[in-house]
Amino acid sequence: MKISYCSLGCKVNLYESEAIINEFIDKGYELVDFDQMSDVYIINTCTVTTTSDAKSRKMIRQATRKNKDAIIAVMGCFSQLNPEQVKKIPGVNIVLGTTNRHKMVELVEEALIKRENKCLIAEYSDIKDYEELKIKKYNHKTRGFVKIQDGCNNFCSYCAIPYARGPIRSRKKEDVIAEIETLTAQGMKEIVLSGINTGTYGKDFLNYNFSNLLADIVKEVENLGRIRISSIEATEISDELLTTISENKEHFCQHFHIPLQGGCNNTLKRMNRKYDIAYYYQKIVKIREYFPDVNITTDCLAGFNGETERDFLDSVEFIKSLNFGEMHIFPFSPRPNTMAYKLPGRIDGITQKFRVNELLTINKIKALEYREKFIGKIVEVIVEKNEAGLAFGHSSNYLEVEFFSEKAKSNDLVHILIEKAGYPVSRGVAIDV
Ligand code: SF4
Repeated sequence: MKISYCSLGCKVNLYESEAIINEFIDKGYELVDFDQMSDVYIINTCTVTTTSDAKSRKMIRQATRKNKDAIIAVMGCFSQLNPEQVKKIPGVNIVLGTTNRHKMVELVEEALIKRENKCLIAEYSDIKDYEELKIKKYNHKTRGFVKIQDGCNNFCSYCAIPYARGPIRSRKKEDVIAEIETLTAQGMKEIVLSGINTGTYGKDFLNYNFSNLLADIVKEVENLGRIRISSIEATEISDELLTTISENKEHFCQHFHIPLQGGCNNTLKRMNRKYDIAYYYQKIVKIREYFPDVNITTDCLAGFNGETERDFLDSVEFIKSLNFGEMHIFPFSPRPNTMAYKLPGRIDGITQKFRVNELLTINKIKALEYREKFIGKIVEVIVEKNEAGLAFGHSSNYLEVEFFSEKAKSNDLVHILIEKAGYPVSRGVAIDV
């Protein structure tokens, strides 16, 4: 039996897709690429923007056209919020949302025999427990995503995720550590702790928080490599957390991805974000006190409803003052069923495009400035690929680095002297390979 999958969206989706595929492989299924003929297709959908909704529908239709006898199983955030739409796509057999994925193998095997369609979507109010899915092995990856948390209680006005993923739920510490031990024992040198709102880990536990988890991972996992935190809200950064990371610096990547989203208080208020610019600024200053060379990256929405020219100019000044190592910039797209959808003051396409381009220009300048700080310095890189002697990988502080080496191979940890700063890729020479 052949199986293939397509995982859209975030690292949590990728983690869940890989965990489910692990189970099929354990049952003897052969994993094939999504563009190949297969007996089972799994599509893990995303709903973070209207574009991801469209992409989800497109990938589902693509699968149904490939093999009309195949079992088509859909899951994830888009199908969680739009099950009727997904059920109506001809050829779809199984519709799950963001729960019940641990039943996927059983449902697919039943469908292969009975050819009956099934839809299992939990109501928001029924999403209570953390659904344990386990990764035993990552296929062709040098970085292991480990999911530690699900759900979000923030309800930012533009975001559909809390409705799709439910309230915050944390994974048992023992399961997190066991999985990191498994991946580390397989030689994985970087673990990326992932979640929907990662920093809220433990908020549903008594007396155990994200900082405690990080300390226990370092204490309990033998031969631990480096830990990267996929993303963390500014509100979840505490002195306790920064102290834990700085006391175990050798194990933590010098990189924090802290979504800003809006650059002025007016916009942050309309976004229902849980901080103002002074608070956010203070957190960045604090982090740089602990880690002077740290890379701080972010996400930013441009052209949010109601953003005046003044708001935008203020945002630009604020963003410049933060010296981000990299910004991911997205034009705001209103999502039905979110509070922002009804907000007045829609920004026209031309203005929005102009604002996106302004931020992209700032990003290029600031990103290069940050990388120039490392010329003549040595960074630690995990090799991800080597094509004809040109090797590539990411450093602890998330620089993309390339260097010439005949010997360096995927998953090697090498030290690179940076010679030329570039954005996105810097160039260096290997000093230990
Ligand atoms: S923190 Fe805000 S943007 Fe992030 S998942 Fe939660 S609601 Fe969405």
